[in-house]
Amino acid sequence: MLHQLGWLGHTIRMPEDRLPRRVLYRQLRLGHRSAGGQKKGFKDQLKISLRKCGLDPGSLETMASDRTTWRRSCHEGVQLADKKWAEKYVAKKRRRLVTMAAPDTTRQVFVCTVCGRQCASRIGLYSHQRSHNKQ
Ligand SMILES: [Zn+2]
Repeated sequence: MLHQLGWLGHTIRMPEDRLPRRVLYRQLRLGHRSAGGQKKGFKDQLKISLRKCGLDPGSLETMASDRTTWRRSCHEGVQLADKKWAEKYVAKKRRRLVTMAAPDTTRQVFVCTVCGRQCASRIGLYSHQRSHNKQ
């Protein structure tokens, strides 16, 4: 993400006639994109990265015009995104561990009337009871 944002700033500071900058700012002159889900392009991914880093895509040019400030805000943004990701990961892991440690007690248990065996589902109990009818 850091390299992606770094390259973005570098490209924005290029003269307008340079090919990478022209490709970055390209738009469809004719035609339209069909309805429904589109494949994510490089610019879509850039917008996602900018949002994750807490950087405003609207003021991108002014932020990127000064290299030193841009580099600093990129580093801070990526650190912020990493921190958010780590918090989310830890919370998810903790939630998973809690779920594994305490099984759901609200779950209904189906008990066989013949042998007292506990089944997790009604269809499981039905399937089990068929084994009693075989003899
Ligand atoms: Zn049984």
